[in-house]
Amino acid sequence: MSYVTEVYDNLQKKHPYEPEFLEAAKRILDSLEPIVSANEEVYRKNALLERFVEPERIITFRVPWTDDKGVNHVNLGYRVQFNSAIGPYKGGLRFHPSVTQSILKFLGMEQTLKNSLTGLPIGGGKGGSDFDPHGKSDAEVMRFCQSFMTELYKYVGKDVDVPAGDIGVGGREVGYLYGQYKRITNLYEGVLTGKGLTFGGSLARTEATGYGLVYITNEMVKAAGKDLAGKTVVVSGSGNVAQYAIQKAHELGAKVVTCSDSNGYVYDPNGINFDVLCQIKQVERGRIKEYAKRVPGSEYHDGEKPWGVKCDIALPCATQNEINGADARKLLDNGCWCVAEGANMPSDADAIDAYLAAKILYMPAKAANAGGVAVSALEMSQNSERLSWSFEEVDKMLHNIMVNIYNNVATAAKKYGYEGNFVVGANIAGFEKVANAMLGQGVV
Ligand code: GLU
Repeated sequence: MSYVTEVYDNLQKKHPYEPEFLEAAKRILDSLEPIVSANEEVYRKNALLERFVEPERIITFRVPWTDDKGVNHVNLGYRVQFNSAIGPYKGGLRFHPSVTQSILKFLGMEQTLKNSLTGLPIGGGKGGSDFDPHGKSDAEVMRFCQSFMTELYKYVGKDVDVPAGDIGVGGREVGYLYGQYKRITNLYEGVLTGKGLTFGGSLARTEATGYGLVYITNEMVKAAGKDLAGKTVVVSGSGNVAQYAIQKAHELGAKVVTCSDSNGYVYDPNGINFDVLCQIKQVERGRIKEYAKRVPGSEYHDGEKPWGVKCDIALPCATQNEINGADARKLLDNGCWCVAEGANMPSDADAIDAYLAAKILYMPAKAANAGGVAVSALEMSQNSERLSWSFEEVDKMLHNIMVNIYNNVATAAKKYGYEGNFVVGANIAGFEKVANAMLGQGVV
């Protein structure tokens, strides 16, 4: 039995109730086969894979809070400190009813490889709660964040673990979490990223994931001898990642014709109007169907996803498993020749198989959406030197990082005999650095 299969079988026995984690681990381990077989002896001797698949530590706690009517609630809180071989644990906090330990372990493993791909010194972590911020008042969200941090502060710190936002955690939540950390510890330090600009946040952090997604897409498209200008793009989601992907894609001459939320999608043949979108989502915190009411010529499709719309390029920016095999085939049938993922693991295994079989350009999430966490690492650097860099400086560094990621992913794929397969390329390029750092530090 191969080393990869042995490790996976064992993992399955240990964690039978964690399907999302097992699925992600299987997909990652399978694609590492070429590098593992090239280094099998040394990896086995150091129990490298057995260590890589287990988080270094998982913290779980209860989060009691009181709503505006005086009713008490208890949610679950987690921090998965996955891997610190190349730097302090780094990764977002997700507040969503679907959050479980299994999902956070899958995201923590992904994050470890993603953070490595940025080339910056950050380890991997993920955390969050099954709390749902939707429909809660500001005061309720604040009390929840304060209660969450009252436990979490014991386990994080600027050189230990630096959380940030993810689904359900944006600037507002990061601000409340930061305020409570400072109050409890009396430390003014960069313990979180994605902070407000008046208290240590980095310029361009808000834009980073969406901009980075378009920068790497542009690099991949150029390497294939094509051009983004004039291409039709389908985007899903309408949060921070989708908004800035749309803005940057338009700046580079492409036309984004859709965006969505969990209720449905809007189609605008003239190109999504960025200002209207931001007014609805950032200012009013409203639903995307509002867009069709305000922009003449656009249509709202209730209960549907945008994957049946004719396009050249698809940028899924909503959530995991939002494209299944049938959706992927619809995209391909409609002429889509490029997919790059702004959300974490938006394509399921069948969808990825369909892209690879059709040999379209496909950049998986851990490479394509690494711009967000990369600028988080730049925020950490600015906090450490107590300076802030200009928007242009940060944006330029982000651009360089995304170009480097593309080159490293493409080179690793080629080196191990999978030219053009960026799933294998991203996993191997991310894993190689973590593996070497783990080997150098002994069996810990
Ligand atoms: N949640 C984002 C991600 O999935 C950002 C994490 C961070 O900035 O630490 O990469």
